Amino acid sequence: MTESAFPPSPALARVERGALCSGCGGCALVAPGRITMETVAPGLLRPRQTAALSADEEAHIAALCPGLGQSVEAAGRRDDVLWGPYRAMRTGHATDPELRHAASSGGALSAVLVHLLETGAVDGVIQTAAAPDLAIGNVTVLSRTPAEVQAAAGSRYAPSSPLADLADRLDEAGRFAFVGKPCDVAALRALAGRDARVDARIPVMLSFFCAGVPALAGAREVLDRLGAAESETAAFRYRGRGWPGRATARLRGGAERSMSYHDSWGGVLSRHVQHRCKICADGTGKAADLVCADAWECDDRGYPIFDEKPGISLIVARTERGSTLMEAAEAAGHLTTAAFDPAGLARMQPGQSGRRRALLARLAGLRVLGRPVPRYRGLHLAAAARQNTLRSNLRNFAGMVSRVLRGRV
Ligand SMILES: Cc1cc2nc3c(=O)[nH]c(=O)nc-3n(C[C@H](O)[C@H](O)[C@H](O)COP(=O)(O)OP(=O)(O)OC[C@H]3O[C@@H](n4cnc5c(N)ncnc54)[C@H](O)[C@@H]3O)c2cc1C
Ligand code: SF4
Ligand code: SF4
Repeated sequence: MTESAFPPSPALARVERGALCSGCGGCALVAPGRITMETVAPGLLRPRQTAALSADEEAHIAALCPGLGQSVEAAGRRDDVLWGPYRAMRTGHATDPELRHAASSGGALSAVLVHLLETGAVDGVIQTAAAPDLAIGNVTVLSRTPAEVQAAAGSRYAPSSPLADLADRLDEAGRFAFVGKPCDVAALRALAGRDARVDARIPVMLSFFCAGVPALAGAREVLDRLGAAESETAAFRYRGRGWPGRATARLRGGAERSMSYHDSWGGVLSRHVQHRCKICADGTGKAADLVCADAWECDDRGYPIFDEKPGISLIVARTERGSTLMEAAEAAGHLTTAAFDPAGLARMQPGQSGRRRALLARLAGLRVLGRPVPRYRGLHLAAAARQNTLRSNLRNFAGMVSRVLRGRV
């Protein structure tokens, strides 16, 4: 990450020592020309420092880097131990059946983006789409039309650094919506406290539930299992076009090879998730205005059912702006919603609730071995751990210690 011809950034050094980088690109945003994002083995986006940083840049990184920590304030909102502060939770989907089908779950997130564009509330949407030069990779795009939002819909289980190139957007005239992983939004929200341009240019921040970012090695393993050579793959969708939708490689000749979401995410991609995500206290976008997720139905044993059907998104409005936006998008006919009882969320999202409950034990495992961990404030780690059995906490503590000792972190 750093060279010795100039003083390495203490903040980045701590992140590197603990393998705490999520790849958001926030450090590259605040130190342009001195930090760039690059892809490193096994296919993760990481910062590279190329020159000395000013004290101001160093302070910005210390304040925003999600690898170093995150603070959440309820500020009078309902504040659930696992799910954080929110104003309203509903389920829903894009009213437009094509958008609903193209999107990851119900297309609620994209429907809200379309609403923002069509009402002129924003001039464009900063979001992530398939990279033109790497079928399995991602690129940050500025979508200015509903068609462009639809083209970018769908989850892409690969690294993205949507903050890295944000400088141009902050400098130019216009107002934009931002879509990013929860850690991207946390970093942007933290930057807003130090840079007035963020709130002026980006009045809306949207996110999605995030179980973690797999390295590109994960997608390459999916391609291998599909018998699709990467050089012959013209396009790759991780899911979407149905709910949950299949991981699909389109070959240069036009043929398609695909596998189910259960096999691609459950069988391959989830095993390639970066370390930072295993100790993430906020996979549910606590800094965002509005967050979407899969409103999975569960079987009698509580396991999500991944049978293909018309998609339904969970919609969590976290701020007043988020809940107003959800209501306005529905009133304008872009979004259709239904009531949802938050008591059912832990069952609907077993991966998220399990990680939150295990987090304190995992962090303790890292701390006893002297590894740096993110500093979390307002994230109720102890209360979440108390929802776990002692046996599970001990297992997570021992599991993390063992991972470190085996050099797996
Ligand atoms: C890495 C990752 C982990 C996820 N983990 C969970 C989870 O634990 N639980 C769960 O319910 N759902 C998870 N999802 C799915 C995600 O929550 C769905 O996007 C959500 O269900 C919203 O669906 P939608 O149809 O409303 O969104 P859509 O309308 O399909 O919009 C999806 C938006 O996400 C953006 N996007 C896609 N990939 C990325 C990326 N890599 N980085 C930044 N932005 C991106 C797109 O630009 C688009 O704006 C994950 C998605 C990703 C990319
Ligand atoms: S988490 Fe983001 S801000 Fe922190 S080092 Fe990684 S890319 Fe930079
Ligand atoms: S799991 Fe957490 S740290 Fe990892 S990409 Fe998602 S929000 Fe960021």
